[in-house]
Amino acid sequence: MLKLLDVIEDKLNKLFLFETQDGYTIEGVFYRGNTLCISSQVGCNIRCIFCASGSKGFFRNLTYEELLMQYKLAQKYLRGKISNIAIAGIGEPLLNFENVVKALSMFKAEGLKVTISTTAYPLKNFKKLFSLNHNGVTISFHAGLEETRKKIIPVSESLEDIKKVLVENLKNVSSRQRKKYQLGYLLIEGINDDYENLRAFAEFASSLKLQVQLMMLNKVEGKPYNPVSEKKYLEIFKFLKSYGLVVTLSNRYRINKLGGCGTLCVNRWKKGLSKV
Ligand code: SF4
Repeated sequence: MLKLLDVIEDKLNKLFLFETQDGYTIEGVFYRGNTLCISSQVGCNIRCIFCASGSKGFFRNLTYEELLMQYKLAQKYLRGKISNIAIAGIGEPLLNFENVVKALSMFKAEGLKVTISTTAYPLKNFKKLFSLNHNGVTISFHAGLEETRKKIIPVSESLEDIKKVLVENLKNVSSRQRKKYQLGYLLIEGINDDYENLRAFAEFASSLKLQVQLMMLNKVEGKPYNPVSEKKYLEIFKFLKSYGLVVTLSNRYRINKLGGCGTLCVNRWKKGLSKV
């Protein structure tokens, strides 16, 4: 039902190109020597402005077998190196919730650690994430102010509603449990790198003692958005740290041109379709 078409490698990452039975190509990426990032949908409807994955629209959900097969095919190719799965490739996992939950329990049964990245849309499924047996969830905030987030993630819940769910579900949990949830902030020059957004974001993150993943943008060809300078990136890192937050920076795998965050796409090398 899923075929491994190609693997492209550089010193850091391995980009896996899979073909579905009905002729779509999707992608996954192996990084850090142990983690496979897999796709949950063919395309994406959330339309985050910086991302290549949804730039051709949404085609269909992947079945749980197709989620599992991405791992099985890559694991065979890599001779057993995968110990972690990140459901963070093409698609919004919460919009393919049943298949993702089924695949999650199958991955766990194989002894794998599984993390999920989400925009928290739709909220009804976001609420259910707190009772699942995952190893971590990154919630894409990318802003401190409502209007900025709406600009970056056009199809989304309000920040206010997402915050409410986080407060309800995390206020009484142990610090160990709380560590499983982190907020993602992808910096886009001139869009969300202002201190009004960053201050509002930092205040909320510190009120719940949530870790922050501060991400550098991978420039996608044809999109008018740019990463912030290295200097600004470190300045913002220090600013967030001044709130007492634990902040992780984008590692070299995530900002790599091959398979870095937001760069996976559908039908990249299909005949008649141009590369993104
Ligand atoms: S970042 Fe994720 S949710 Fe947003 S468009 Fe890309 S794949 Fe979809």
